[in-house]
Amino acid sequence: MPAPRTLLELEADVARDLALTAHPRAPWLEAKTARGQPVLDCLVISAGQCGLAVAHALRRDKVENILVVDRAPEGREGPWTTYARMRALRSLKDQTGPDLRLPALTYQAWHEASFGRDDWERMRWIPKELWNDYLRWFRRVAAIPVRNGVAAGAIAPDATDDGLPCLRVATDDGDLLARRVVLATGQQGIGGWWMPGFVRALPDALRAHASEEIAFEALRGKVVAVLGAGASAFDNAAVALEHGAREVHLFCRRAEPMVVQPYRWLTFAGFLRHMGEMDDPWRWRFMSHVLGLREGFAQDHYDRVIRWPNFTMHAGRPWTGARALDGRAVVDTPRGPFAADYLICGTGTRMDPALCPELANCAGNIATWADRFAPPEEERDERLARFPYLAPDSAFVERVPGETPWIGRIHLFGIGTTMSFGPAGASINAMSIAAPRVAAGVTRGLFAEDLPRLWEGLRGYDVRQVELDAARLAGN
Ligand SMILES: Cc1cc2nc3c(=O)[nH]c(=O)nc-3n(C[C@H](O)[C@H](O)[C@H](O)COP(=O)(O)OP(=O)(O)OC[C@H]3O[C@@H](n4cnc5c(N)ncnc54)[C@H](O)[C@@H]3O)c2cc1C
Repeated sequence: MPAPRTLLELEADVARDLALTAHPRAPWLEAKTARGQPVLDCLVISAGQCGLAVAHALRRDKVENILVVDRAPEGREGPWTTYARMRALRSLKDQTGPDLRLPALTYQAWHEASFGRDDWERMRWIPKELWNDYLRWFRRVAAIPVRNGVAAGAIAPDATDDGLPCLRVATDDGDLLARRVVLATGQQGIGGWWMPGFVRALPDALRAHASEEIAFEALRGKVVAVLGAGASAFDNAAVALEHGAREVHLFCRRAEPMVVQPYRWLTFAGFLRHMGEMDDPWRWRFMSHVLGLREGFAQDHYDRVIRWPNFTMHAGRPWTGARALDGRAVVDTPRGPFAADYLICGTGTRMDPALCPELANCAGNIATWADRFAPPEEERDERLARFPYLAPDSAFVERVPGETPWIGRIHLFGIGTTMSFGPAGASINAMSIAAPRVAAGVTRGLFAEDLPRLWEGLRGYDVRQVELDAARLAGN
């Protein structure tokens, strides 16, 4: 492989690669307005890695009248510099992601140009801050149009001046109009962070979810109890230990903590590309097994906590209740109560569209797997049945047809797609396959609606590619 050079030279390579692979180059969409206001072809809600990747895929297909909005300031999108408490990504460093397989746009190309080939060779895992820096670089050189500090609110149906249906999206920067919306709002994007109700009922001073800001300095000398045995639970336990917590106890529901990573098994092209095309029983069987196992923690997460003598892991000891007592939290467990000064829940998210402001006008009519598929008794899982049941173009499907037909213009990209398509948006390993698929869902819809205009365009097409010699035409 040729040695990397400077970042400036790499950026020149990016421009050249984008130009060399720009075919088909012809613009094919027509600007629309509604009551004098421009209508975007697509609004992407979120400049996290999924939003950026799908915007890049759309631009590659010449859907350029798009906008990406994110409520976070630039550089603070997603978990990487906010609530992620791991040191490095768990994805293998050579996975491709939002680059969509353009070599000069890959993380590796950026890393080598920024820090040198040797540094790349030495690095085992990508530090999360570097991944964030890379995403910022990616968005700049891929020319993704992003407006930060803009929160999207409720989506509602509207129409363009020439009668095409479109969507109106309330934002704190005024309403935006778009023919299609991609909702890529992250792990909690189709519901919310979840913790047991009895923990949520405790005073704020006694508990937090792992996704929240936590004043770890205040935990010095304290006893901290963490619920969950996924990567985030371990990371939060580690940070508490590193901030001088007296004891940290991690409680795991399973008797045998989960030590395999099913996402490693399924990272092959057949699965990533085609699982979403399989019939419901197979999709349910595979994905409910994977999500039922939950995402295991990696060796580094474990090593980071196990070196502390004041760390204890309680396997097979779920929390069944909790109460506040004398300024402390007491959790009930099958092996008796446990008192701690502070509780942290690494318990992930729950699907519940009713919690999403963007879906305020349609949450009740979004079909879920529970509405569409009855698994065999031994495969039932209420948590997973709440995942949205998505159309092949990754758009929402109506629970009651005809009540909110416009939700077929909202395409989901994120963890909520997992039951329908496999690990589509929630992880880097699937992105180079999943982002173009979501973008294709958007372009398919735009194309189908434009057929009458395109038909007129074809019939009126009169660009001559040959100048005939009139004198030589027989019959003249
Ligand atoms: C702690 C942690 C570690 C992870 N580590 C890895 C890993 O190593 N490898 C891997 O493959 N995956 C990992 N993941 C999973 C996944 O890759 C990340 O969650 C990733 O950030 C998902 O990208 P995203 O674009 O879907 O969402 P995010 O990166 O979360 O971006 C969502 C964005 O949406 C914005 N937003 C939300 N609502 C609105 C709104 N209404 N209007 C405007 N903006 C809005 C937010 O501000 C945010 O910037 C990790 C997840 C977590 C939580």
